Amino acid sequence: MINILNLSYNELEEFLLSLNENKSSFEKHTQNIWKALWHLRVSEYKTIQDIPLKLKSLLEKHSLIILPKIILHQKSTDGTEKILLELADKNCIEMVLIPNLEGKITLCISSQVACKMACTFCATGKNPFKRNLSSAEILSQVLVAKNTIADSLQTPRIKNIVFMGMGEPFLNMHELIKSLRILNSPTAFMFTPRSITVSTCGIADTLPIFAKEKLAYLAFSLHAPNQKLREKIMPFASKWALDNIKKELINYPLSKREYISLEYLLLEHVNDTVEHAKELADFAKACNAKINLIIFNEHENCEYKTPSDERIQAFRAVLLAENITAIIRQRKGADIDAACGQLQAKLL
Ligand code: SF4
Repeated sequence: MINILNLSYNELEEFLLSLNENKSSFEKHTQNIWKALWHLRVSEYKTIQDIPLKLKSLLEKHSLIILPKIILHQKSTDGTEKILLELADKNCIEMVLIPNLEGKITLCISSQVACKMACTFCATGKNPFKRNLSSAEILSQVLVAKNTIADSLQTPRIKNIVFMGMGEPFLNMHELIKSLRILNSPTAFMFTPRSITVSTCGIADTLPIFAKEKLAYLAFSLHAPNQKLREKIMPFASKWALDNIKKELINYPLSKREYISLEYLLLEHVNDTVEHAKELADFAKACNAKINLIIFNEHENCEYKTPSDERIQAFRAVLLAENITAIIRQRKGADIDAACGQLQAKLL
């Protein structure tokens, strides 16, 4: 039985035709079902209006609307919310809702169950990799988040989507692109490429594929300014040599006023010295990139430490002196293990 949320618009049309749907009306019915699934967020076919009863029962017979179940919903003192979701096969993933001061929300979603990349600072990478998420499972996170916060078409509250949860999105490129098309679709979620950011730690030969689609911003998780250090803290990601990454980032097609973000997680006495900052500045200049500095959040089974404020400010000062835009990303949700690098989809 298929999950209807896994179908693109064209696939939905084909599916309706396969149900012997009347050729003269299938276009209208496809539109109505598509709108009901993504705009009205229906969870049962019987609530879809403007399609005949016979079609509803055919849909029920041959497909399901499968949404993940909320297993745990935690709220941080700073307003961040972390939701643990159980998928149909009982695997679990996490997503995080991060509000800003105006009450608009950035939703951080997952693309895989755990992650193969095993970056040494990341809780997700410490769990055994299970599998890629389907496009439906990626998009269901947005549906569940919207249902949870009573987001509506008239008053949308989720402003940005970031693929910075569990998993390396570029290792799930097919489903990533499929889900981004639906997130961008004016007949579905109506986000824009500017409101979506996909973060990758770098998989060889994938940047051009992603760039060609122009469906989202790129955030590159660098975390080390030279190959030797990257090999130490990101053993799998570093298999793609930093020199080659730099070339690809330099050639990354950007439109006016668009830029690449380099994500840099500050780990005390590991990658946070003034020398590292100078190397990072050179790297960023070459790629014409801005830098997001992320402060490491300590978590169990991980030896790294959070740098002191003095070290953070000294690091940033070097970047600013080199005319590099360097923003310190605010730490959110650390008290519920929802901050960057802390997601691991386990029950308390
Ligand atoms: S940081 Fe990202 S790529 Fe690295 S292990 Fe964690 S989820 Fe995977």
